[in-house]
Amino acid sequence: MKLLQTTFNSEFESTIKNWADDIKRNNFKALFHIYIPYDIEGAREHSDLIRNILLRELPGASIVGCSASGEIFDGHIQDEDIIVTAMIFEDATSRVEAVAVYKRKEKGSSERLSFLRSIPELKAIEILTSAPYQKFEDEIRIIDMLPEDVEVFGGFAVGDDKHAPFVFANDAPDSSDGSVVVFYCGKNLNIQTDRLMGWKAIGYPLKVTKSENDVVYEIENKPAYDIYKHYLHIKNNESFFYDALEFPCEVQIGNETTYIRHAKSVNPDGSIVMSSAIPQGSSIRLTYGDPRMIVEHTRKNSLQIRDFAPEVVSIINCLGRKLFWSEKKDIEISVISKHLQTTGFSALGEIMRYKGKTVLNNLSIVTVAMREGNAVKQVKFDEEKTENDIDFPMTARLALFINTISEELIEKNNQLNDMLYKASHDALTGVLNRGAIERIIYDHYEKNISSDEACNWHLIMFDIDNFKKINDCYGHTKGDNILKTLSRILSEYINTIPDAKAGRWGGEEFMLLISGHTDQEIEEIAENILNKIKNGFDEEIPVTISVGTTRYIPNENVKDTIDRADALLYKAKKSGKAKVCSDF
Ligand code: GH3
Ligand code: MG
Ligand code: MG
Repeated sequence: MKLLQTTFNSEFESTIKNWADDIKRNNFKALFHIYIPYDIEGAREHSDLIRNILLRELPGASIVGCSASGEIFDGHIQDEDIIVTAMIFEDATSRVEAVAVYKRKEKGSSERLSFLRSIPELKAIEILTSAPYQKFEDEIRIIDMLPEDVEVFGGFAVGDDKHAPFVFANDAPDSSDGSVVVFYCGKNLNIQTDRLMGWKAIGYPLKVTKSENDVVYEIENKPAYDIYKHYLHIKNNESFFYDALEFPCEVQIGNETTYIRHAKSVNPDGSIVMSSAIPQGSSIRLTYGDPRMIVEHTRKNSLQIRDFAPEVVSIINCLGRKLFWSEKKDIEISVISKHLQTTGFSALGEIMRYKGKTVLNNLSIVTVAMREGNAVKQVKFDEEKTENDIDFPMTARLALFINTISEELIEKNNQLNDMLYKASHDALTGVLNRGAIERIIYDHYEKNISSDEACNWHLIMFDIDNFKKINDCYGHTKGDNILKTLSRILSEYINTIPDAKAGRWGGEEFMLLISGHTDQEIEEIAENILNKIKNGFDEEIPVTISVGTTRYIPNENVKDTIDRADALLYKAKKSGKAKVCSDF
């Protein structure tokens, strides 16, 4: 395959005629991309005009395009001209088709893309969208059902308060509220997407405790802006956007960075408007972007892209990243474009599939390497080997230092949490161990006697009936498994009761502390535990418990409360087992 590119200039029509001749003569297939600077006058009319010319010369040609900011031409980013490119597919088995999915309004959004699932030899899907993020999320759910080896890429069309973003395909009218989709198929077509970031995490993971769509209200229960104020001294003034752009947040799920978001502005209540949505409950980390490190990252990755031996590389560059570089906006694109044929644009969000899920990135560069047939061995470029070790700037060293220290602290913190967990939890059953539940009861007692509040709390103590026999008949392992299952049943139930704690008191004895309930409620809870355990096991090995429950009597010693629970448990055993005994 190959790439043809032109600006929309005075020779445009004759250029297209020449392209069309070449395409028709050789029986090639062509896919046209039109990237239109979002703020030029008559942007939409230009889209119609250009599409008319293309369709006149090549009826039925596949065409897609969108409003953009920073269109790639001749290996560089430029902002002035409309760029028209043709991807020419030379292999007879390759097939590309563009569809405007917004045309099918009458159908539900979930159906609109379902046709994708029946396309043979599908290698990749490109999406250009001007729809709000929520609508886009509906659409990607269908795409995510495709086999994992289908690549997905694309971008959000660019607009601002005065210019609505728009997308278009073939001869359909443009839309500021929809998506256009291109599917790339063919057994000899190879497509590989990558994303480049280059921002380095600094500091601890922080929880987004309150957010809605792209507004983050609270981080670690504090106004979101505090993060930028406290750690970075970034002032809330007109330069906030650019100052904060050097320190975007990476959003992590598990231990992995899934995408990056940058802060755009601060609201009067201290909430922050981010570049795209961050779900509530996400874990985020501040990152630092050192320009030289970012370029180095891009350079290393572009060498890897080159190893794929692409014939054409489509690039979706983030508009935020372009602003980050300001007058050097071109620097990364020209690095990637060295020795490669590139096309693409800067978007308001870059779409890519990551581990089978389609995600919206910000501040990234998504590269889409394409080739028909096998990789042709690439020439190695020696010049680049020698400049491998770029100078490490001071700021980069400091960022690395902070990063390393934080990683070590996080690791130590994890170890500490792990140790604390092990010290307070029973290894066999996972519930609190004797030491922990005892401490909780004594602390609770101390806290209550030192306050004037009514000391309203209960103990529930229980012991498995005839457990020795179970061990003897079915073996110790079976006994262990019964203890585990019983603990799971107990924990699941206890978690539904506010202010209740349960621990393993001894071999097959358990103790619960529950505060703020009435005697009657405690009685019910005890009966519930008894029944849940009785019903939680196979009938061939019946497991029952005997339970003692008691209320703390103000001014008594906590030891007396415990002894009373124990005595009541003993009473339940003596009077036939599998029952609750209480003294209220
Ligand atoms: P009762 O109904 O009177 O409670 O009779 P019991 O047989 O349950 O008697 P007791 O409570 O005195 O016996 C406890 C038994 O529980 C003794 C011990 O072998 C067994 N046991 C204690 N801890 C474990 C354990 O971790 N695993 C297993 N499999 N058995 C345990
Ligand atoms: Mg027992
Ligand atoms: Mg016992």
